[in-house]
Amino acid sequence: MTSLSDIYLASPRGFCSGVRRAVKLVEQALRDYGAPIYVRHEIVHNRHVVESLRQQGVVFIEKLSEAAERGRPVIISAHGAPKSVYLEAEKLGLRLIDATCPLVEKVHKKIVRLAQEGKNIVVIGKAGHPEIIGTVGQLDDVSRCQTIVTPQEAESLKFKDEAPIGMVTQTTLSVADVAEITDILRRRFGQIEALAQSDTCYATTHRQAAIRELVKHAAAIVVVGSKNSSNSQQLKKIAVQAGAVKAFLIDDVSEMPWDELADIRTLGISAGASAPEELVAQIVGELKKRYANLKIHDIIVADEAAVRKYPATA
Ligand code: SF4
Repeated sequence: MTSLSDIYLASPRGFCSGVRRAVKLVEQALRDYGAPIYVRHEIVHNRHVVESLRQQGVVFIEKLSEAAERGRPVIISAHGAPKSVYLEAEKLGLRLIDATCPLVEKVHKKIVRLAQEGKNIVVIGKAGHPEIIGTVGQLDDVSRCQTIVTPQEAESLKFKDEAPIGMVTQTTLSVADVAEITDILRRRFGQIEALAQSDTCYATTHRQAAIRELVKHAAAIVVVGSKNSSNSQQLKKIAVQAGAVKAFLIDDVSEMPWDELADIRTLGISAGASAPEELVAQIVGELKKRYANLKIHDIIVADEAAVRKYPATA
């Protein structure tokens, strides 16, 4: 029987700057105002982060009225929120703390500009995801805006008139999927504004590139992240597309698929942008306990410390 001999750790992995900033804002609010602090929606899509904050006195809500009844501050999650939420907060006299990632805000500004220019707008993203609800929710009139997420939808997309087309994308989609869809749109509609520029953020791009690199070394891939995390789901999907024999998305060490790894020699590990590093460290610690002489390698595709993460306007 074979046994695990080499572990490959993706770098970068785990928390991005937007998630780090959002969590810090919640912690700061707890210090400034005391518990309970209300957060609209999960601050980031990670079970451990949400649970830990809940234990410190954070209440996650979907309706602002729940916070208004208690007269407490409300934090907008990193995914952003529609304009209507800000208007409602103002009406309710709520103190809002905005943890929307500046890279999501940049997309908000872009969709508003495209609408002001009278363009038909393609939104590439998952219709029910809070980021897309927030992005589309920046518009007063959505009649020129359509949300698609598959190549098939791109093939059948129709607009009411021949106005020029602009595009925005969800920040956490697969870079390759967005490229495939934009190719179809370009073929069907000709020049579309900013086709070369998807809004996939630097953190998503780096983590996806690192997964592709991991698969060159490792037969199986473990992605640490929650099932409702878009960027974590994409990492698992990309691992399979890139040729991983097995790929798993797990919340933490308690979900490690030990039986499935019995015939695997090389394992790659990464973590979605909302997954804390300590969860990866716990998995590596358990692997070291179980497998003697395990060799650990870092696969580095980018140095995020050197990246300009936020737009100049942020
Ligand atoms: S994944 Fe990208 S857009 Fe989302 S919070 Fe992180 S940096 Fe911001």
